Amino acid sequence: MVVVPHSNPDGDAIGAAYGLAVVLRNSGREVKIVSPNDYPSFLAWLSGEVEIINYLKKRGTAETVIRRSSIMFCVDFNEITRVDEMEKEVASFGGVKVLVDHHPDPTPFCDLMVSEPTYSSSAELVYDLVVALGLREFLDHRAAEALYTGIMTDTGSFSYSTNRPGLYRVLSDLMTFSLDTAAIHARVYDNYSADRMRLMGFSLLNKMVVLPEFRTAYIALTRQELKMFNFVPGDTEGFVNIPLSIGNIVFSVLFIEKENLVKVSFRSRGKFPANGFAATHFSGGGHLNAAGGEDKATLEEVIAKFTQLLPSYLHLLENADNDEYEKKDF
Ligand code: 5GP
Ligand code: MN
Repeated sequence: MVVVPHSNPDGDAIGAAYGLAVVLRNSGREVKIVSPNDYPSFLAWLSGEVEIINYLKKRGTAETVIRRSSIMFCVDFNEITRVDEMEKEVASFGGVKVLVDHHPDPTPFCDLMVSEPTYSSSAELVYDLVVALGLREFLDHRAAEALYTGIMTDTGSFSYSTNRPGLYRVLSDLMTFSLDTAAIHARVYDNYSADRMRLMGFSLLNKMVVLPEFRTAYIALTRQELKMFNFVPGDTEGFVNIPLSIGNIVFSVLFIEKENLVKVSFRSRGKFPANGFAATHFSGGGHLNAAGGEDKATLEEVIAKFTQLLPSYLHLLENADNDEYEKKDF
């Protein structure tokens, strides 16, 4: 069996994939994780029990693992394009492909779909799947740590997407494995470099643009600026959330200049559809309040396109947190 998270995997993609893989291994299955690319160093402690193969670094090994597997679990993504360079491997896989994901509107690239958009995280969903499959007895401390990590990171440390009672039943059972939640939090969030902290300070002081009339803030970082702070993948993780803590801001956007494109992250509050905005204008998607996309134009062009779009969203932005408006118009 092979478990595949999405490209540039985050805490939920790795946490859910690792938790599922450890349970499957404990139940006697041969299982490996193949990640489309490297995963951030703050998740490096999720290793040991099951091998995580980096497809970009060990393509031959990854291809062998995939060829020998009869089941592929696609975890935490809803479109095949989210595995980037691995798309062909996933598309041509000869066995049964099983989707385990919580993003809305999955495209049908798998044979079986466990798709639950009301779940906080894929990790929460993996837990329920494990129980439903009768594999609860194979959950152990390491798998529980991994699933907890996925839930913690995808809920912003239990600050959003946390109103489903089922989530707390899952957490309650995970806690029977005596998880050190403070230590897990510190491993993930207190593990950054000084350079990353300075890049964050620079971004907020010099690069954040606040547009109160559109209840929007954005940060755009050039490759040159990232280089100044010795950027490594994962360093800008979380930056896009920060402007949302400004009163009255309901839409926050982070533009990161890459070699051939601009990667865009969107966060919103209330009913403002970050995923719709990303899908309509930036070839992307995601959740209502957390989405991403990309654009092949230059950074300046992408920012100009973005700011020109805002007036047509003014009504939605103004009413993002208006309950009356929600009831009447959505
Ligand atoms: P992030 O901004 O943290 O990279 O991504 C936030 C959310 O948007 C995640 O749930 C992720 O699945 C989704 N997302 C990010 N980038 C893309 C993209 O390029 N395409 C699609 N469809 N979803 C994306
Ligand atoms: Mn997720």
